[in-house]
Amino acid sequence: MYPMFVRLTYTSSAMELKFCRFIHRQIPIMVMLSLLPGLGYIFLGWMAGIFWPALIWYGLNVLASLRGLWLYRHFGQRPMGEREQGRWCSKLSVFVYVFFLLWAVVFVIYVRESASNLHYIAIFTQIGATTVAASFLYPMPRLYRPIIPFMMLLLVIYFFSIGEWYGYVLSVFAAILGGVLYYAASSSYNLLKTAHRQAAHDQLTGLHNRQHFMERLQQMMMDLKEAGSYSFLLLVDLDHFKTVNDSLGHGVGDCLLQEVSRRMRRAVPPPNGLARLGGDEFIVIGREFQQPEGCEFQALELAETLLAHLKETYLVSGHRIYISASIGVRVFSYEEQDSDSLIREADIAMYEAKGAGRDGVVMFNEEVSHRVELHLQIERLLHFALENHEFRLCYQPIVDEDKHIVGAECLVRWNNDRLGEIGPAQFIPIAEQTGLIIRLGEHILMTAFSTLSAWHRQGIDLQQFSINVSVRQLLHHDFVNLVRGLAERHLSRELLHKVVFEITETVIAADVRSVVSTMDDLQRLGIRFSMDDFGTGYSSLSYLKQLPVEELKIDRGFVHNVSRDEESQALISAILHIATTLGLTVVAEGIEEEEDFQFLRDLGCRYFQGYHFSPPLGAEDYARLLTHSITGNQL
Ligand code: C2E
Ligand code: CA
Ligand code: CA
Repeated sequence: MYPMFVRLTYTSSAMELKFCRFIHRQIPIMVMLSLLPGLGYIFLGWMAGIFWPALIWYGLNVLASLRGLWLYRHFGQRPMGEREQGRWCSKLSVFVYVFFLLWAVVFVIYVRESASNLHYIAIFTQIGATTVAASFLYPMPRLYRPIIPFMMLLLVIYFFSIGEWYGYVLSVFAAILGGVLYYAASSSYNLLKTAHRQAAHDQLTGLHNRQHFMERLQQMMMDLKEAGSYSFLLLVDLDHFKTVNDSLGHGVGDCLLQEVSRRMRRAVPPPNGLARLGGDEFIVIGREFQQPEGCEFQALELAETLLAHLKETYLVSGHRIYISASIGVRVFSYEEQDSDSLIREADIAMYEAKGAGRDGVVMFNEEVSHRVELHLQIERLLHFALENHEFRLCYQPIVDEDKHIVGAECLVRWNNDRLGEIGPAQFIPIAEQTGLIIRLGEHILMTAFSTLSAWHRQGIDLQQFSINVSVRQLLHHDFVNLVRGLAERHLSRELLHKVVFEITETVIAADVRSVVSTMDDLQRLGIRFSMDDFGTGYSSLSYLKQLPVEELKIDRGFVHNVSRDEESQALISAILHIATTLGLTVVAEGIEEEEDFQFLRDLGCRYFQGYHFSPPLGAEDYARLLTHSITGNQL
């Protein structure tokens, strides 16, 4: 029988491998149960005159036990991949078969010794061994299924062969006992399987759960290490799922998740793995690849297929629902150590996909990693930047059609020891997210107001003084009071009239009514408003009438190269036309070339700003530029 088992190839599922580990823990007990009573068998054999067979049997028993202990020691010493564990389980199976075969052999030898009453011992031991098989081997059907019937069959045959009535009765009893033990083992196995299934699956969708997925991922990483291969993770997050839950109720949300899971199952065939991490977040683990390029290609292809499946219209409880998803891809190799960071990085890529407008796929790479790292660093260092006086303001001249300086725009600068000079386009959005913009904005306003007042004392007279104000600042409940307080401290009413707050079109996404009410309050103080980056955001023009704005700043994206770009020309003409109709002044920002300046001036634009006239300057440089300029304020 032995060679047949050796050839056994192991195609076990993760569940079987797990149960195999349970049997691993039983090896020392089985060895003890075998070696100690075995000594008694030698003694009894010696008494009954069958010493040599008993000794040979015991010797084989010792060899098998040593093999068992060796297997016991070599399992779990270091993490093993699925394949290696599979091989180990095959070896364990062979050990178990041999172990019980040896007990069957000793039964056959001793049961014939009825003269010395050894057959009683043999019968009892055989029943004992079968009970051990039923109670220790139930997690693995391929062990208990052949072993229990085989052991009991020997007893049945023996009793039957007595040829007396009680022999027949005992043989029937033995068969029944065998059936009971087999049934007990099967029931325990089914219970174990159900418990395992429940522990590994998500109740709502029936997909694997996070815990199971983490085990699978760790297993996969070990497999990759063994084979030097590659695989991938896809982290899938539904877009705006919360809206479905909030507007249609959790019942519909749950049904939608079930349908999403069904589609994902269809789109992600085995051997890929699929799990629900929680909420509307799912994860896919790919199969093994020998080459990274193939792996990347497959990952992206699968992600695109998945997106296409998920985007098809859903019909849930009579509601037509459209939903998309954002997918983060993380390709990983055998060198990877930490499963948690793999998921975190897939998550980062997924958030990049969300940031890029959702409904898309982003692959995690060095660049994404660097961006995120920088983002985190900025977030951390920004906290201390105010106390450390790392911010300063620059002022960029605004000129009229004769290149006379008529105003300035305040632009904040951050210089950090560790990061160097960081542009506001990078750190302002982070300050907005973290809420630091409130304190930073206050600091900027205070600095700007005191600069304006200092310039006034130096005799510098400007038409306007522009300050960028973010939505979060504008919507802060104390903003109007703050501005009023600072203005009272630094500015005369006349100077306050020169202040222009530049806001962006994102205010439209906020609560327009409270935006308008704040703007009205500020306007009563004397402050004017300008719409910054005009043309880049919400193309609805109706809000322009709602908001008390007096100026439009054409985004530098349209201004750049306008003299050679017909599309930009058409757009700027349209903007100028609207502005004239609504009685708004227009500033073209980002002028870098004389041609663009002349072109826009001829088109009817009145005010300009850009490197062509001057870059943003420190307060003193700006003042010097104005006071020392020979031709008045002309640049
Ligand atoms: P923005 O309000 O559109 O500011 C104009 C940006 O264009 C400035 O960049 C300025 O240096 C740059 N610029 C000026 N002339 C030219 C040119 O000829 N060519 C090009 N390519 N660029 C030019 P900066 O200073 O990096 O500011 C970026 C953005 O950060 C600003 O865009 C504004 O949205 C925000 N920001 C700057 N300072 C503040 C602030 O104090 N508060 C708030 N809330 N946001 C600010
Ligand atoms: Ca601006
Ligand atoms: Ca702008």
